[in-house]
Amino acid sequence: MSFQYAPAPESTSIVNIKSSNGLFINGEFTPGHGTPFKTINPATEEVLAEIAQANQEDVDAAVRAARRAYDKSWSKMPGRDRGKYLFRIARLIQERAREFAVLETMDNGKPIRESRDVDVPIAAAHFFYHAGWADKLEFAGFGSNPQSLGVAAQIIPWNFPLLMLAWKIAPALATGNTVVLKPAETTPLTALLFAEICQQADLPPGVVNILTGDGETGRMLVEHPDVNKIAFTGSTAVGQAIQRQIAGSSKRLTLELGGKAANIVFDDAPIDQAVEGIVNGIYFNQGHVCCAGSRLLLQESIAEQTIESLKRRLQTLRLGDPLDKNTDIGAINSREQLNRIIDLTQSGEDEGAQRWSPDCVLPAKGFWFAPTVFTNVTQAHRIAREEIFGPVLSVLTFRTPDEAIEKANNTPYGLSAGIWTEKGSRILGMANKVRAGVVWANTFNRFDPASPFGGYKESGFGREGGIQGLGAYLTSEESS
Ligand code: NAD
Repeated sequence: MSFQYAPAPESTSIVNIKSSNGLFINGEFTPGHGTPFKTINPATEEVLAEIAQANQEDVDAAVRAARRAYDKSWSKMPGRDRGKYLFRIARLIQERAREFAVLETMDNGKPIRESRDVDVPIAAAHFFYHAGWADKLEFAGFGSNPQSLGVAAQIIPWNFPLLMLAWKIAPALATGNTVVLKPAETTPLTALLFAEICQQADLPPGVVNILTGDGETGRMLVEHPDVNKIAFTGSTAVGQAIQRQIAGSSKRLTLELGGKAANIVFDDAPIDQAVEGIVNGIYFNQGHVCCAGSRLLLQESIAEQTIESLKRRLQTLRLGDPLDKNTDIGAINSREQLNRIIDLTQSGEDEGAQRWSPDCVLPAKGFWFAPTVFTNVTQAHRIAREEIFGPVLSVLTFRTPDEAIEKANNTPYGLSAGIWTEKGSRILGMANKVRAGVVWANTFNRFDPASPFGGYKESGFGREGGIQGLGAYLTSEESS
């Protein structure tokens, strides 16, 4: 029996969006010197606010402020005191969680259920986790007196704006570095709200600086001579450009780039549970997830049955107003991203794969894409090789574990993978052979601040989270 849900929209009255927004430099909001741009709500195409564009002068000012804060206060402060600031920030994120969730959903288009239950709580958890490390760094395995690096330039994408900010800022601050962070141009609002949190937490001026702007601002930040460390999350193309840009300099670099993860389902897996994992793997956050399970590898004997169950399940997903608490699939973040998804899915059809989507009505305004499944996909198809970064699943089949490994690894990426089977030995055997930084077993898209995250091959290098993530912001006394 199917029934209708009554609308359950979250109120937006909790957020206070300023019509015009400055940069956050040295603890204060200040106008930018570039030409401002607008950020819109991708679900409605309404303009939310005008955002400052940081130019060279602003980048210089922000790096100067970060350097001053590093030299004068932050790097000299005992870890216990740095930890207190991080605990304070974590608690303030929790206190203002609803505000963050609503703002994130308005600026990004993701369902409020996800920003409320995933993005914001995990962002707070990252600050709590790293607050705990701040006074224990000598026990983290980087020598007895590990040292911070200096000023970290951090550049993040639009798919998890607040969460990626937390992944970047929390470890940098815990280890005694100061930061200049640039959010993506389509999702700057929660980073600016975070700047308010820094003020509220009385964080010393200059420890965190937020520069809004486009890729050009990012490029200037990467090139700045007084930056010691660059942490970038985004596309492989830009990651490679950054690597070329800083070649020959002493800047430290971590890159978290794209992915084309294999979600591998064996014939002994609990199918209903696996179907939930497949749905979560690729349709969570509209598929705007670097570690999305975008290639489903099904053991041939269960392929037909699993695809049938999957299609039945997809019929029940609710696409629409991201602020509605019952929405499963929200809006695509930008028209540009929507066009990319449309292009790639068209190539899937042109190359002979079979396309299917549940019946669903797309709203007239905004950027939308129905959840899509491609069957009859071969490894040569673009939709099996290129990252789509949208709610599109490519299904392939295999007969033996060796064939599954070969297909899973047949990609330039290596960020994540999923394995569904009842056998523990098979999980361990497969996990050792799949070239992916994160391997989930009988689950998918689980994140924990204590667990390192990062890739192989064109998915980047370096880890974020866990002890390994701390290492990206420290130099051990032996090597300094
Ligand atoms: P993008 O690389 O275009 O942009 C990411 C960020 O880099 C933005 O802030 C952008 O302004 C900035 N930027 C653009 N050009 C730059 C330059 N020349 N120098 C410095 N900064 C520059 O990527 P996107 O389209 O916004 O994000 C989607 C991509 O990010 C996907 O490929 C996805 O897989 C990847 N991603 C990876 C992870 C991860 O943890 N591995 C997480 C989220 C997203």
